[in-house]
Amino acid sequence: MVVEDERDIARMVEYNLKKEGYRPVLVHDGFYAALTAAKEKPALILLDLMLPGLDGLEVCRRLKADQKTAHIPIIMLTAKGEESDKVLGLGLGADDYVTKPFSLKELLARVQAVLRRASRAEPAPEKLIAGEIELDAAKVEVKLKGAPLELTSKEFELLKALMAAGDRVLTREELLEKAWEMDSSLELETRTVDVHVGTLRRKLKKEGRRIITVKNYGYRFEAGR
Ligand code: CA
Repeated sequence: MVVEDERDIARMVEYNLKKEGYRPVLVHDGFYAALTAAKEKPALILLDLMLPGLDGLEVCRRLKADQKTAHIPIIMLTAKGEESDKVLGLGLGADDYVTKPFSLKELLARVQAVLRRASRAEPAPEKLIAGEIELDAAKVEVKLKGAPLELTSKEFELLKALMAAGDRVLTREELLEKAWEMDSSLELETRTVDVHVGTLRRKLKKEGRRIITVKNYGYRFEAGR
C-alpha cells in the first residue's frame, strides 16, 4: 500500500512496483490509510509523512496500535530536513525510511529487504490449504485431492514457501534462500529454481496453475479460485 498525496510520485511508485510484480494499492490521504490497511492487509506500507487528513506519524501510531495492522511493516517516505520525524517514526515502530527525492532503485531495494525480513520473522502456519492441495508442514506431507503426493525435499520447501507467502511474489533469490537455506550469492544458480518449480508444477497437475510466473522477477502462489 502506497500512502502518498503527491499524485505524480504515487503513480510513479505504483508503476514501478507493478513492473516488479507487486500489486500496489494507492491511498492519497492519511485519514483513509489506516482504514484501507485494515481492509486490504497489505504486505508492506510505504508511508509519506506529510499528508492531508492525518499526518504520517499519526497514521503510523494508529497502524501500530491496531492489532489488525500492527504487524505490517512500514517504510516512511520523508523529506530532507524531517530528521526529527524520522526518529519519531522509527520510535513508533516504522521499519525503515527513504528520504525524498529517492531513487526508485533504492526504494525497491528497501521494499525487498523489509519484505524479506518480515517473511523470516513470520512462522509459517502448520497447515496450508489451497484448492485440492493440502500441505502439512509439521508432518512434511503434501496431499493432492486427499491422496499423498511424492515430492522431493526441494519441491516441498518451494511449495511451502510459495503457499506461506500468501499473495506475495517471491524472487528466485528468496526461494533459493528458503528452499536451499543458502545465500543466493553462492554458486547455485537461480535457474535451478525454475527447474524445480517446473517439476513441482507437473506433479501438482491441474493445481500447478496456481504457481504463477512473474516475468523477470519470480513466482507467486494463487490460493484463491
Ligand atoms: Ca506529502
